[in-house]
Amino acid sequence: MLVLGIESSCDETGVALVQADGPGVPRLLAHALHSQIEMHQAYGGVVPELASRDHIRRVLPLAQEVLAQAQRGLPEVDVVAYTRGPGLAGALLVGAGVACALGAALGRPVLGVHHLEGHLLSPFLSADPPEFPFVALLVSGGHTQLMQVDGVGRYTMLGETIDDAAGEAFDKSAKLMGLGYPGGPALSRLAQQGDPAAFRLPRPLLHSGDLDFSFAGLKTAVLTQVRKLGDALEARKADLAASTEAAIVEVLVRKSLAALDRSGSQRIVVAGGVGANRRLREQLDAACARRGVRVHYPELALCTDNGAMIALAAAMRLQAGAQEATTSYAFDVKPRWPLQALVA
Ligand code: ATP
Ligand code: MG
Ligand code: FE
Repeated sequence: MLVLGIESSCDETGVALVQADGPGVPRLLAHALHSQIEMHQAYGGVVPELASRDHIRRVLPLAQEVLAQAQRGLPEVDVVAYTRGPGLAGALLVGAGVACALGAALGRPVLGVHHLEGHLLSPFLSADPPEFPFVALLVSGGHTQLMQVDGVGRYTMLGETIDDAAGEAFDKSAKLMGLGYPGGPALSRLAQQGDPAAFRLPRPLLHSGDLDFSFAGLKTAVLTQVRKLGDALEARKADLAASTEAAIVEVLVRKSLAALDRSGSQRIVVAGGVGANRRLREQLDAACARRGVRVHYPELALCTDNGAMIALAAAMRLQAGAQEATTSYAFDVKPRWPLQALVA
């Protein structure tokens, strides 16, 4: 079974081809990505209308690139998968529209995928894929959730952020420090030259006794420091970046360990853009090694949005019998869509 996957939920257009034969983990044949970051940088954030228009320009050339890379023809595609939500409505509609048009033209069924399920399952494409069940730490630009994952579509929420997501905390702090948009990776790079203990920043909800997160107060604390430093900011920026990163990572690691305790699981999977963060990987690896817990990450290139995770999630849902692809091409999208609404 050859699955073509299309991702267009936000500011990345991603297309991929995945091959799934038998019950084994599907194989990634090719993927291609176009990031709109440069286009949105001038505005300090994603402009939805510009995002939609750019997806229109990019998606078919990327599909052709992926087919050429994999040396496959469009008629060989068995299922066309697309991101159905959550995300920007206009951006989602582009991927859904193209996927359904391709499906109709080819006479092949289509399948709408949950973007977060894509992130969640993306570590299955790594060299060291996990096995169910596991605890998942989903840390992206819009979400921060701890989940118990017992199989495809079997997700129980253990805790989540009550305000900002971890990626948002990175991005907003970076913006306050003048590091551009999205500043997460830039802040993390700068942090490597700084002292993580230089500034005392809050660790919100660290001792709350539940598995929820809150990052809005951290952003305010960073703002306070930026104002206090004034002209001295430039000289202390690396220290402030390192201290901010340390605060976010400490909360993520401590809550992940608490989730493992609660679930009794010996396995944790990290997914989403913040999963690329080096300090998070180092600290979580060290803490889990002490407990004999296995940690799985997506490949670095598949931490942020991509088409591979969408093709993969579709293939795994089909393999698990969790969903059937449909030849009804009357698509809709779900800009807001909780992951627990999915059925196994
Ligand atoms: P969602 O999936 O919740 O809809 P999204 O698709 O925007 O949100 P992702 O693409 O998974 O999120 O991840 C993007 C986020 O990851 C951004 O907030 C970005 O700053 C952050 N990020 C990426 N790399 C790093 C890094 N090395 N360190 C910290 N944050 C990072
Ligand atoms: Mg993005
Ligand atoms: Fe995402």
